[in-house]
Amino acid sequence: MAMTVNMQAGPGTGASVMQAPRRLSILGATGSIGLNTLDLVAAEPGRFEIEALTAGRNARELADLAIRFSARIAVVADPAAYAELRDRLAGTGIEVAAGPEAVAAAAARPTDIVMSAIVGFAGLAPSLAALAATGTLALANKETLVSAGPLFLSAARQAGTRILPVDSEHNAIFQVFEAGNADTISEVIITASGGPFLRTPKADLASVTREMALRHPKWSMGPKITIDSATLMNKGLELIEAYRLYPVSVDRLSVLVHPQSVVHGLVRYKDGSLLAELGVPDMRTPIGYCLAWPERRPSAVKPLDLSAIGTLTFEPPDRDRFPCLPLAEAAMRRGEGAPCVLNAANEVAVEAFLAGRIGFLDIARVVEETLGKLDGEGGLSEPASLAEATELDGWARKIASACL
Ligand code: NDP
Repeated sequence: MAMTVNMQAGPGTGASVMQAPRRLSILGATGSIGLNTLDLVAAEPGRFEIEALTAGRNARELADLAIRFSARIAVVADPAAYAELRDRLAGTGIEVAAGPEAVAAAAARPTDIVMSAIVGFAGLAPSLAALAATGTLALANKETLVSAGPLFLSAARQAGTRILPVDSEHNAIFQVFEAGNADTISEVIITASGGPFLRTPKADLASVTREMALRHPKWSMGPKITIDSATLMNKGLELIEAYRLYPVSVDRLSVLVHPQSVVHGLVRYKDGSLLAELGVPDMRTPIGYCLAWPERRPSAVKPLDLSAIGTLTFEPPDRDRFPCLPLAEAAMRRGEGAPCVLNAANEVAVEAFLAGRIGFLDIARVVEETLGKLDGEGGLSEPASLAEATELDGWARKIASACL
C-alpha cells in the first residue's frame, strides 16, 4: 500500500512566509469539530482572526469562546438563548444575535474560510449562505451533502468557492484522488471502525442502551454522529457524501471495516495501485489539513507509529446486523429525494433513541418505514432549492415521527 500526495488537488510545499491572518468563521463552534478547530486556532496565534462563532443553544460556552478568541459576532440558533448570550457578552464589543436566520447571516459575512460544523440538516441553510462570501468552505456537516448535495455543489461552483471535506474518510480521498486521472480510478473505498458493536451478536443489539451506543471505541465525537457510527448509518451517509464529492459511479464506491481506524480512505487505480491516507484517529489532522490548505503545516497531533500498532485488519461490513448501511446504499442508488428523506428520518430516530423513546434497532425500522412511504408517494424529486429541501425534510420528519 503506497502513501502519496495528489499534486492536482493537494498542497504546496508549505514554505513559511509571513502572511496576513486568515479570517475564519466557525458554524457549530461549541461542538466536537468546532472545539477541535479552535484548538488548532489557539495553537497558531496570529494566524487566524475569528469573524463569527455560532452555536445551537449553549450560550455560556459560546460566550466564553467568543471572548477568548475575540470573535466579531456570536450567534445562537435558539432565540431562547439570546438573553443569556447578550448578558454574558455585554460590554465586550462583540455583536450578538439569535435565530436560524441570524446564524445564516453570520455565515454570510466575508471570510477566507468557513468551518461548517453544525450537526444535522440545520447546517444546510448556513452552509449555503456561506458560499457567496468565503473563498473556502471546510465541510464537516455531511448532512448538507446527503440532503441537498447537487444543489449545494452547484451553488459552490457558481460562487467559485472551494469545498474541502473535513470528514476523515473524504479528506483522505481528497488527498489521494488524482482529479486529472479520474477515468483511471476503479474504486473509492471508505473505511469504518465498525463502531462499538462490531462483534455484538444480532440478538443482543435489541438491548443496546444509549450509554453503550455512545461509547465509541476510536473516535471522540458529538452524540448524533456517535450513534450513527454505532448503527453504521454514518458509513451510509458517508457513501452518499463520497458519491456527491467524487466523480465515481455508485458501483465503484465501497466500505471496508478497519477496526484500528488508521487507514481512512483508499483510491484504487486501474493500473493496480491502491493509494491511501493513514493517520491516528484524531479529527485535528483533517481539520488542520483544511485550515492549512493548500499548504501543509506542522501539527501537534501525535505521529502515527505503525510499528507500535503492528497489525492492520480489514473485513467487509455486516449488512445483516447493521441494516442502516444497506438502507443508505439503496437511497443512494435511488437518488432524487431519497437521501434527503433517509437523513431526516435518521435524525428523528436518533434523537428519539437518545431521548430513550425507542430502542437501538428501531432506528433502522423508522428509517425503512419512512422511506417506504416515499414509494407510496410515487417518489420525490431532487430538491432544487433550499425551500424544496426544507419542505422535503419536514415531510420526512413528520412521517418518521409518526413511525416512532
Ligand atoms: P456536536 O453535536 O458535537 O456539535 C454540533 C454543533 O452544532 C454545536 O455547536 C451545536 O450547538 C450546534 N447546533 C446544534 N443544533 C443546531 C441548530 N439547530 N442550529 C445551529 N447550530 C446547532 O457535533 P459534531 O461536532 O460531532 O458534528 C458536527 C458535524 O460534523 C456533523 O454533521 C457530523 O456528522 C460531522 N462530523 C463530525 C465528526 C466528529 O469527529 N465529531 C467527524 C466527521 C464529521 P450547541 O452546543 O449549542 O448544541
